[in-house]
Amino acid sequence: QASNGSYCAQSAIPTKKNKSSETLINLEPGDPTMYETYWAKMEDKGSIMIPGGQKLSYFSSADDLCWFMEPELSDAIRRLHSVVGNAVAEDKFIVVGTGSTQLLFAALYALTCTNSHLLDQPVPVVSAAPFYSCYPGIADLVRSGLYKWGGDAGKFDREEPFIEIVNSPCNPDGSIRGPVVPQNDSRKGKLIHDFAYFWPQYTPIGAPADHDIMLFTLSKCTGHAGSRIGWALVKDRSLAEKMVGFINIATIGVSKDAQLRAAKLMGALADQCGRENDFFKYGQRLLTDRWRRLREVVDKSEVFTVKDYESDYCSFFKDIFKPNPAFAWLSCDHISDTASFLQG
Ligand code: PMP
Repeated sequence: QASNGSYCAQSAIPTKKNKSSETLINLEPGDPTMYETYWAKMEDKGSIMIPGGQKLSYFSSADDLCWFMEPELSDAIRRLHSVVGNAVAEDKFIVVGTGSTQLLFAALYALTCTNSHLLDQPVPVVSAAPFYSCYPGIADLVRSGLYKWGGDAGKFDREEPFIEIVNSPCNPDGSIRGPVVPQNDSRKGKLIHDFAYFWPQYTPIGAPADHDIMLFTLSKCTGHAGSRIGWALVKDRSLAEKMVGFINIATIGVSKDAQLRAAKLMGALADQCGRENDFFKYGQRLLTDRWRRLREVVDKSEVFTVKDYESDYCSFFKDIFKPNPAFAWLSCDHISDTASFLQG
């Protein structure tokens, strides 16, 4: 969230050099280009070729619940989750989306649409602060009559149904999160788990997650944000059907080209796990080194601090290590609004 209270989109404004050749680093957007070197080294293990005469149809597997999902992609998703052990996928319905951003819209719609279309008032959507800066915009963009942004989950005390987005590890502060709003008979909540960063390069993986709606994205898993592929693991069939219905109306499915690329990339990750070119090991080393260098600079400043994280056992690496979040949550002594301070 920008210091003026407005919400930023993830505009990919590149780092620029100014006239005096000082490098200005734009800290606002997150763009996972750091994995380019790995994929360049992998050469054709991450490449696909689609002949012009193939993949013209809107449909992928007309009999499946998610009829626009390529079977290769659902197979690759189930395989990768099983190899990494971060989520239980076997017994779930999978819904593919144009990034997990579209799946957030789809999940909010599916959780609130009723047959009567007559809700007394839109259902509040909350998330514990500091939360991902795009959540408020996603909840309020179309001024839906079904749901609306309700702010910090830590402050939510209204006696009414709600939706809580649980983002773990959290963008921006890297913390491991569970739901925070206490539930009772009149305050019943539905949860969406946003697991964009629940991969071993960012955090030790404990037991596989097993929640009602879990969102993942290729953007943070393999780093291919530009392919715009996300997936939801959904327990309940009718909820998954409603999400598919949303995507049908919004975009009549999801690019087959991008799905096939995603399937190939995820297959390559699964193949390499535990081997010389283990992507997660590579990502973990890269991030550990960046965090070490960042902490050195921050320590020297004597003004800034970054959060420290507890080590934990990772069932994937079979080792104990500290999380390496994709974002740094920087604070500045005696200054309450570090964002404006940095902008200045
Ligand atoms: N959730 C979180 C926490 C994120 O950080 C992002 C991307 N920055 C997304 C969801 C959306 O990812 P995408 O639409 O690229 O899948």
